[in-house]
Amino acid sequence: MSGKKVVIIGAGISGLSAGCYLQMNDYESEIFELHDISGGLCTSWERKGYTFDCCIHWLVGSGPSMSLYDIWTELGGINKETEIINSEVFTRIEGKDGEHFSIFTDIDKFEAEMLRLSANDEEIIKEFTDAVRFFVSFQCSRDNPPPPEVQRTFGEKIPAFLKKWTTLTTNDFAKKITNPVLKQFFLRIFGDFVGNTSSIFMLLATLGYLHAKTAGYPIGGSRPFAKRIEQRYLDLGGKIQFKTHVKEILVENDKVTGIQLINGDKIPADIVISAADGFDTIYNMLKGKYVDEEINGYYNNLRPFPPICQVSLGVADEFTGIPHSIQFLLEESIKVDPKTDLKEMGIRIFNFDPTLAPKGKTALVTFFVSEDYEYWTNMRENNRKKYNEAKDRLASEVIKRLEKRFPNIKSKVEVVDVSTPATFIRYTNNWKGSYEGWLPSMQTAGKSITETLPGLNNFFMVGHWTQPGGGLPPAAMSARKIVGIICKQDGKDFTTSKNSN
Ligand SMILES: Cc1cc2nc3c(=O)[nH]c(=O)nc-3n(C[C@H](O)[C@H](O)[C@H](O)COP(=O)(O)OP(=O)(O)OC[C@H]3O[C@@H](n4cnc5c(N)ncnc54)[C@H](O)[C@@H]3O)c2cc1C
Repeated sequence: MSGKKVVIIGAGISGLSAGCYLQMNDYESEIFELHDISGGLCTSWERKGYTFDCCIHWLVGSGPSMSLYDIWTELGGINKETEIINSEVFTRIEGKDGEHFSIFTDIDKFEAEMLRLSANDEEIIKEFTDAVRFFVSFQCSRDNPPPPEVQRTFGEKIPAFLKKWTTLTTNDFAKKITNPVLKQFFLRIFGDFVGNTSSIFMLLATLGYLHAKTAGYPIGGSRPFAKRIEQRYLDLGGKIQFKTHVKEILVENDKVTGIQLINGDKIPADIVISAADGFDTIYNMLKGKYVDEEINGYYNNLRPFPPICQVSLGVADEFTGIPHSIQFLLEESIKVDPKTDLKEMGIRIFNFDPTLAPKGKTALVTFFVSEDYEYWTNMRENNRKKYNEAKDRLASEVIKRLEKRFPNIKSKVEVVDVSTPATFIRYTNNWKGSYEGWLPSMQTAGKSITETLPGLNNFFMVGHWTQPGGGLPPAAMSARKIVGIICKQDGKDFTTSKNSN
């Protein structure tokens, strides 16, 4: 052991990952987690025989074609037994008049699908799909690398490629499409979640990962994925204290000395890593004493991912032949909260994962933006009856709209479960109910933010608030990076070990 004790706040994927890498490098680490399970947002829950998944739609790095795969295998999130599903269709977007648009994970098929809708737009379609192919050739072709003469051209091509595609918004790209149907489908891909003023690069990269079969879904879903990483951490000698809410990060002479829990207990540490919410860490646990204009600017000006509601249904049907993800327009919108009208619904049909429902039955999940998170948190705090009625109303509105798309579904619904932004905040404490940290923006593209704080020693932050765009890969990668920095500061070589399972 290095002799140093590192305390980690939060047992989400970033906290567990930090713990694993610290243990691999002979640090003594201990995680303090407010919930009674690990995983944070990477979770699922069981209700009457059904499991409702809340996180993994795509796990970037799920296949060996990119080096991120090695991180998931080091952490045990993926092991020899993990079965990864790479679907043929990522999602199917349905239009008003029976028209539909499938996002095929194979880029050649996706190109053919776009050409089917608009042969006139061949030039822009091919420019885009060729860009996806180029992305795959330099980013996720480890198992099938391009010839050396092609690789030699990367140095001059990649910077121009990145500049072109990271500075183009989805809106601006869609303007180049002449066919109104294809244009509309394109603008609907990210729905209300990311918005179309973000760079189109996010879509381009996602299509690249899907094509390279490295953005799949691990059978069992999010909770088993997190549990495997927790087990890896425990096997490496790590310790987790559940139901321990960290209230304060203790500081003496600008050096972090430990943490204080909500029950008053003080835990000394040589280093503290916060893998918890960014705002809470900086402005509450550290009382806003270690900030500068730049950090205040992030929290005043950047947009987080929106808060969401999730309605989960256990349905006595196999949904045979139906794509596992569908987005369709609602004839009558749903008033989700005073600020949000839901006009389109995306539904995940988990009939491809037999572990999530009894035989012959299926778990269905829809989640959607609910901008007014305070509507839910205030109601839950002040009037639980009204809150429960609002949840029931939302579920029945959703089922009513689904009945139009799947006639008779109502009679087959066996289990109904509703989560609101208040649920996400209660269980994970994420600022404003954000489900993935900061939205990616032109301003923050490729940037890491607030991994350390000005003037504060022995302290680091990891997780989705440190890398705009969020998600599981940044959670693990930021943790790996910070442990590398800690090792470097201590004059040690950073090492990793393989998981033997
Ligand atoms: C519906 C949904 C779909 C998603 N889909 C995908 C996807 O397909 N692919 C993908 O890559 N990502 C996806 N994500 C995002 C991904 O789940 C998150 O970005 C990632 O899990 C963040 O991990 P984290 O460790 O940084 O933070 P969190 O998961 O928020 O973990 C923080 C942990 O800290 C704990 N904590 C907070 N405050 C305290 C405190 N004061 N004391 C002690 N503990 C504390 C929390 O309880 C939590 O366990 C999705 C998320 C949601 C909700």
